[in-house]
Amino acid sequence: MLKSKIIYLDYASATPIDKRVIATMNVIFKKYYANPSAIHELGVKTSKLVEDSRKNIADILGAQNSEIIFTGGATENNNLAILGVLEKSKNFFSKPHIVTTNIEHPSVMEVCKYLEKTKQAEVTYVSVEEDGVIDPRKIQKALKPNTVLVSVMYANNEIGTIQPIKEIAKEIRHFRKKQEKQKDFLRSSVLLAQDVSSGDESSARPFKNLFVFPVFYTDATQAINYLPINVLKLGVDMLSFNGDKIYGPKDVGVLYVKKNVPLGKIMFGGNQEFGIRPGTENTASIVGLVEALKIAEKIKEKESERLVKLRNYFIKKILSQNSDIEINGGMEKRLPNNVNITIPKLPSDLIVIELSARGIYISEKSACKSGERKGSYVIKAICPTSDASQTASGFENGSLRFSLGRETSKVDVDYTIKSLKEILKKLKKWYD
Ligand code: PMP
Repeated sequence: MLKSKIIYLDYASATPIDKRVIATMNVIFKKYYANPSAIHELGVKTSKLVEDSRKNIADILGAQNSEIIFTGGATENNNLAILGVLEKSKNFFSKPHIVTTNIEHPSVMEVCKYLEKTKQAEVTYVSVEEDGVIDPRKIQKALKPNTVLVSVMYANNEIGTIQPIKEIAKEIRHFRKKQEKQKDFLRSSVLLAQDVSSGDESSARPFKNLFVFPVFYTDATQAINYLPINVLKLGVDMLSFNGDKIYGPKDVGVLYVKKNVPLGKIMFGGNQEFGIRPGTENTASIVGLVEALKIAEKIKEKESERLVKLRNYFIKKILSQNSDIEINGGMEKRLPNNVNITIPKLPSDLIVIELSARGIYISEKSACKSGERKGSYVIKAICPTSDASQTASGFENGSLRFSLGRETSKVDVDYTIKSLKEILKKLKKWYD
């Protein structure tokens, strides 16, 4: 079959690059190729572009320039944030404890599992509720005197649920206050931290003031396009995102690290990015990311409103046509562009392939199928009994993610729903 038009509904995986961003990056590629660390004129000019970008990001996040670290993307952000805090916390706790959720991205989840396996940290995975949203009181209950880090994503990549970051930050602040008052040993260990950092040559971020653990970190990769990102208003200590979810370049990310937050080094070999992320900065990608973020901020409100309407239309229509389809994740606290559904008794990968043959690109995750394919722990987390409903051929119910974006129109949604209806009619004949 000839594909006359492509309908891209996989914006949560990667966005196309905005034409304006490509134009800006092309100039940098051509003119500012020098190493930003070089002391000759072109190096200095290139370095200025990186520093101006840092200031632009800091202004948008409500942060200081020295709190912005450019990285190689979102996976790196998560590794750096978790391992960096752990590295520093080892100075004060023999068995550091981390609190996270059971629906984090694999780049958080797998780091935590590794730390548990190697006995470097104890980890509590707080379960989300059935709507895919975490109860901040459960985070509060999980906190212990040796908790060094709380890592909760701002919005989930599969089901688009939005976590109550401000409320969690508030719980953590209360906990820290209690810790400060009650635990003399903690006070002394933090004072010790000052000593350690002042004499520690390898520490890129010596913290001169007191910092009481735990650090609160949020992976905001999926949230940046649609949600408020002022770090002071959110009350987070660290926040991160990347370029390729905001219509910018791939392989570039931003990690905000509040002043005095104890973040140790996990990579070595250069003084770039305050020594925290050594290696030559990718000037074109950094400048491109800034341009993409500025555009995203400018259109955030309007685009969110447009997409909420489109998403609700999509969901209403799809439910009216197929009574057995289920929406994964609650509707209230959900990203404007996310539609995640389960179509019982049909293999989700086959539906993705059928849609792809019609020029419609989406993502799928099967629910956990022991042995054969690794499934979605996110869908399992919100629907623990999903194992029960298997097809006659042994498939478990999977999920389909349609993620909308700037180019998505009502016509695209209508065409997608019509195509899905045809595909389901065909597949149901095979699998019933
Ligand atoms: N965190 C979240 C929430 C994500 O959605 C993604 C990308 N799917 C990542 C981290 C990892 O991003 P990257 O593959 O660009 O490193």
